[in-house]
Amino acid sequence: MPAEDVIVHAEGVKKSYGEHEVLRGVDFQVRSGEVACIIGPSGSGKSTFLRTLNGLESVDSGSLTVMGEQVGFSRRGEDYLRWSDRRYAQFRQHIGMVFQRFNLYGHLDAEENVMLSMRHVKGLSKSKAEKRAIEELERVGLAEHRHKKAHQLSGGQQQRVAIARSLAMDPALMLFDEPTSALDPELVDEVLSTMQRLALEGMTMVVVTHELGFAREVGDTLAFFDQGVVVEKGAPEALLDNADSDRVRAFIERVRHA
Ligand code: ADP
Ligand code: MG
Repeated sequence: MPAEDVIVHAEGVKKSYGEHEVLRGVDFQVRSGEVACIIGPSGSGKSTFLRTLNGLESVDSGSLTVMGEQVGFSRRGEDYLRWSDRRYAQFRQHIGMVFQRFNLYGHLDAEENVMLSMRHVKGLSKSKAEKRAIEELERVGLAEHRHKKAHQLSGGQQQRVAIARSLAMDPALMLFDEPTSALDPELVDEVLSTMQRLALEGMTMVVVTHELGFAREVGDTLAFFDQGVVVEKGAPEALLDNADSDRVRAFIERVRHA
């Protein structure tokens, strides 16, 4: 059994789509309060792995424990029972996920976007949800924009609304999948500094990113994915400055000069 402060414990996680084995035995750990960054080439399984962490993808074999639960299975006596859709939904409530695309409702304003899940998933009253939405929008520096329609906000602001929307659900773990890759370069920093602030507040985070500066400054650990496995992991500066594997060094060089 993983230690108590271990939020994510993956051991030998495998996942195939048909004949294609996308995860080929991923070992990965995140402790409470840690920021674990993931880098690696396109198609290496980073997004798929992230999606297994909140149960959006099931695992074929290996062991995956998130927040003390074996994802997808409950133990009853000697047997393991598969989770129902409802059980998955319950589990997912405590995990925030921010994607490359912010998928906000463009015709709703920032505050309404943040309120939606609070109203429909948590069942909060309108006034409670509104109060909390304002707090979370303040936390990401957008309180004064709360009545702007999502489509009127910049990409960076929209991504911060998406973060506020996740935070409003009181996540114990936040997953970020290349949250700044779709942004114009001048909007990247406002999102990264919002994430950095969150990290300083002690949020446990798994972040897929090619922002090496963020990984170095904010990350506690950095893992390099390639072809469905973690090739190397460790302290960010060790990996970034002094990786053991040629593949990792070559990749980092390429990202640096991209
Ligand atoms: P990364 O995020 O590192 O770019 P992904 O996890 O998105 O990699 O994808 C890993 C591999 O799995 C890719 O070859 C991709 O085409 C494949 N893949 C991802 N999702 C699916 C799916 N739903 N069905 C079939 N193949 C998929
Ligand atoms: Mg991806």
